[in-house]
Amino acid sequence: MEHIDTDLLVVGSGAGGLSTAVTARRAGLDVIVAEKEPVFGGTTAFSGGVLWIPGNRHGRANNPGDTREAARTYLRNETGAWFDAAAADAFLEAAPAAVDWFERETAVKFVPTLYPDYHPTVGGGVDIGRSILAAPFDIRGLGADMARLRPPLQTITFIGMMFNSSNADLKHFFNATKSLTSFIYVAKRLATHLKELALYGKGIQVTSGNALAARLAKSALDAGVPIWTGSPVLRLVQQAGRVVGAVVQREGREVEVRARSGVVLACGGFPHDAQRIARAYPHLKSGGEHVSPVPTGNTGDGIALAESVGGQFDLRFPSASAWMPVSKVPLGKKGADGSTGVFPHLLDRYKPGVIGVLRNGQRFCNESESYHDVGAAMIEACRGEAETAAWLVCDAAALAKYGLGYVRPAPVPHGRFLRNGYLMKGATLAELAQACGIDAAGLERTVREYNVGAEQGQDPAFGRGTTPFNRYLADPAHRPNPCVAPIRSGPYYAVKLVMGDLGTFDGLRTSTVGEVLSTQGAAIPGLYAVGNDRASMMGGNYPGAGITLGPNLVFGWLLGRHLAGLAGKAGTAGQDATATQEHRRAA
Ligand SMILES: Cc1cc2nc3c(=O)[nH]c(=O)nc-3n(C[C@H](O)[C@H](O)[C@H](O)COP(=O)(O)OP(=O)(O)OC[C@H]3O[C@@H](n4cnc5c(N)ncnc54)[C@H](O)[C@@H]3O)c2cc1C
Repeated sequence: MEHIDTDLLVVGSGAGGLSTAVTARRAGLDVIVAEKEPVFGGTTAFSGGVLWIPGNRHGRANNPGDTREAARTYLRNETGAWFDAAAADAFLEAAPAAVDWFERETAVKFVPTLYPDYHPTVGGGVDIGRSILAAPFDIRGLGADMARLRPPLQTITFIGMMFNSSNADLKHFFNATKSLTSFIYVAKRLATHLKELALYGKGIQVTSGNALAARLAKSALDAGVPIWTGSPVLRLVQQAGRVVGAVVQREGREVEVRARSGVVLACGGFPHDAQRIARAYPHLKSGGEHVSPVPTGNTGDGIALAESVGGQFDLRFPSASAWMPVSKVPLGKKGADGSTGVFPHLLDRYKPGVIGVLRNGQRFCNESESYHDVGAAMIEACRGEAETAAWLVCDAAALAKYGLGYVRPAPVPHGRFLRNGYLMKGATLAELAQACGIDAAGLERTVREYNVGAEQGQDPAFGRGTTPFNRYLADPAHRPNPCVAPIRSGPYYAVKLVMGDLGTFDGLRTSTVGEVLSTQGAAIPGLYAVGNDRASMMGGNYPGAGITLGPNLVFGWLLGRHLAGLAGKAGTAGQDATATQEHRRAA
């Protein structure tokens, strides 16, 4: 078997793997990234690209009063029994410096967002300042490698064009038919995108998680880190108890990569490991279904690799994954080819006049809470039932104004979604209920009762609109409560929700810096984990926008520096340009 020597082998090219690789390389280590899929970027490239990083310089400008102590209090309140003081302190201390380092030393750049924490009224929570967003990126900066960047998740693009998850884009797209400024903004965005499609066959100005993945990959490639795509890591190589490398399948052959500093597992958790999720997800245990928008290559390989050398994985958090209510979108022409897209419900639930009901027709939660909270409520409400499902229901006026799921607002036509069964319709609520298989009397009663408070902009049952986060993604122009409006005259519409996820929370047990721990609790020499392969410091909770990517980037940075330090390499910024060139040639 062919052998290749390097310092560090990183397995997986999402935010966790690439941030570790870039940092370690810039500190002087030779690094190879092996990526199983033909494209790099992982779930990170599908994501909203929002990172929860308290104390970051962008957020400080918007909220100078925020403190590290407040963020720590918030984390303690949010994670409860799972509060990991060592991880929280390491994260909070390193986070601002990591952001500064990436922005100063690499192609990774951020912009501020206006996101409140998801539970801003909890002690230590803030209304603004902790979540930042990857700055948009022109992927021509990747040169020929732009063909290897994972394209965005199809269901959250419009004719292939990405929206920024937290800026003017969404506001203008919703207002395009009501405001001339928005119309001109949208027309310009569409014209640029259509030109890019004609010239390159895809969008070139990428945003959100696609921009984050592209920026990290550019930083890695520029520093001389080869990203081997189509190269799954098959097994670890151990010598005298130390992980000294791994066998990688590359161009049809097996190659042994010997890594002096060790192997970093960054395979993005286990969202598509059928056996593991069958053990972990309550709704699967009761016979229901789970549909994940995460790339299908995230099959828990990192966890299995660690287990093969005695690493400890356990299911212990209250929620094994970050829950995301999703709908299944028939994508082929009239759905004929049977292909289905997964649509994550990131925006519609917050809007006034849209409610969520169960099969019995009853509401079950505050629909304007985060996807994770709504998902957890849905799992709880359906416990013991064969199916974990809910329906988002609205009237014709709300559908035209906000769209519903994959159905866009007017004037984008929605007829094909009625024909392919994605969007259900009824002239009356009873008719809609019958079409969906919902209890008709239950739905009529729910809407009648909901409307009483909604006429006054109130939701006495669940308190929609009572926190800044509830209101953040609602309709600011709708008064008095941007999250609450009555459901008035028919026809009525519904889209069915089932359970999905954004990534797994449970994972490998590690030390704070990322050493994989054995079932006896000792560090396995030479083996490390970052990103969703390591158990989340949030303990199965979801405190704010970007709570997976934020820690993934920061712990990647910490681990990269730690490994370089162990190898006696000091520099992070003082990388010799000649050495970089030589390394690139060798790679
Ligand atoms: C639609 C959507 C929106 C989201 N938005 C946000 C957001 O805004 N903020 C946030 O914090 N989180 C968000 N998330 C979650 C976030 O994207 C993930 O938690 C994060 O990207 C995981 O990063 P990672 O580096 O651990 O894994 P990934 O980015 O998934 O990368 C793992 C890589 O490892 C590769 N791999 C797997 N097995 C092997 C193997 N054997 N050999 C080699 N390579 C292998 C995979 O192919 C993959 O490319 C979102 C998720 C989705 C689906």
